[in-house]
Amino acid sequence: MERIILIRIGEIFLKGNNKNFFVSLLKDNAKNALKGIPCRFVSSQNRMYVERYEDSDERTIIDRLTKVFGLYNLSPAIKLPTDFTEIAKVCSDMSPKNGTFRVTVNRADKKLDKNSMEISREIGAYMLRKESGLTVNLHQFDFEVNVDIRENGFSYVFYEKIPCAGGLPVGCGGNGMLLLSGGIDSPVAAYLMAKRGVKIYAVHYHSFPFTSEMAKNKVIKLAQIVSDYCGEIELFVVPFTDIQYAIKENCPIEYMITIMRRFMMRIAERLAEQYKCGAIITGESLGQVASQTMESINVTNSVVKKPVFRPLIGSDKSDIIEIARKINTFETSILPYEDCCTVFLPKNPVIKPKIELAEEMEQKLDVNGLIEQALSGVEIIHCNNR
Ligand code: ATP
Ligand code: MG
Repeated sequence: MERIILIRIGEIFLKGNNKNFFVSLLKDNAKNALKGIPCRFVSSQNRMYVERYEDSDERTIIDRLTKVFGLYNLSPAIKLPTDFTEIAKVCSDMSPKNGTFRVTVNRADKKLDKNSMEISREIGAYMLRKESGLTVNLHQFDFEVNVDIRENGFSYVFYEKIPCAGGLPVGCGGNGMLLLSGGIDSPVAAYLMAKRGVKIYAVHYHSFPFTSEMAKNKVIKLAQIVSDYCGEIELFVVPFTDIQYAIKENCPIEYMITIMRRFMMRIAERLAEQYKCGAIITGESLGQVASQTMESINVTNSVVKKPVFRPLIGSDKSDIIEIARKINTFETSILPYEDCCTVFLPKNPVIKPKIELAEEMEQKLDVNGLIEQALSGVEIIHCNNR
């Protein structure tokens, strides 16, 4: 008899030709999430199991697995050789002392001489004999006793199904280059795109000495926190100060942010090409600030060819904060460190910028030279929590 964790995967991958690809990716991601915890990971058909772990690690294992996209739910369970008396004993030992319950048997092993109904009834009867406070009610029950009888001669008894993160396995949807700031929105954007199977790479623009080492560390911390969901994130920290100086000295101040953001997009696209990312991702939300009006987005978008995914475009800040709290990035995001956008912030940024004007202003700048120079100073940081 052994405590194990039984994992169910989303039904969606069980169909179609890609099934093997999805399942093997999911298995790798789940295994990776358990890195550093001694245990055995087994995958058979549409189930996965974690076995042979220390009891004291169980909570951590569950916590990590519930953050793996593509997993549907999981159950901490007792695994034992299929023997009806033993199974009934285990069910009874695990049971609360009072309340209504039902027993649900899933019998994959068709060689047994009893059917699921008969087995459930026997187990239920045993439990009733042991505890006088229990009553069976098939329709309105306080708890359900589940017994899974597998073909390999083992059965699993479990009482709860803990929901996992849902979504698609990270990696099945290609790579994406996220513009990661130290704010609330972009880590949430990472989470949402990873949930649709996108492997996240991230770029952060750093304006040393105007933004401190602490500001950079905050971004690294955010990438580490979301890596619980996204898997390891390769973070590119790009020196941005020279670009900001060049814009400030050569372009009208109200276009400062617009042109800065055009540089951010161009550099992100260069890195995206280098790391085989099919899309750029940002945490923009329509109308949130001057640089996120439809016109501003159009002017910054026009410098890149790759699609730009903005998963938060239609979300209210309060909805974004709710997700940030859930994924544990909120408390870090609100720490008061400066961001490069706030350092050179004009009093009256243009709300409806024009592409032609931005292009004209940029003629005063050595756009390619500045980009090359920034890219030559990129620092690469591998962010994960393991
Ligand atoms: P966030 O909360 O994500 O910082 P925000 O509300 O502060 O967003 P902006 O500062 O306008 O909004 O940034 C919009 C998006 O631009 C961010 O979500 C992020 O994707 C990107 N971005 C902003 N600053 C940086 C930066 N320093 N490095 C990388 N990306 C950035
Ligand atoms: Mg910001």
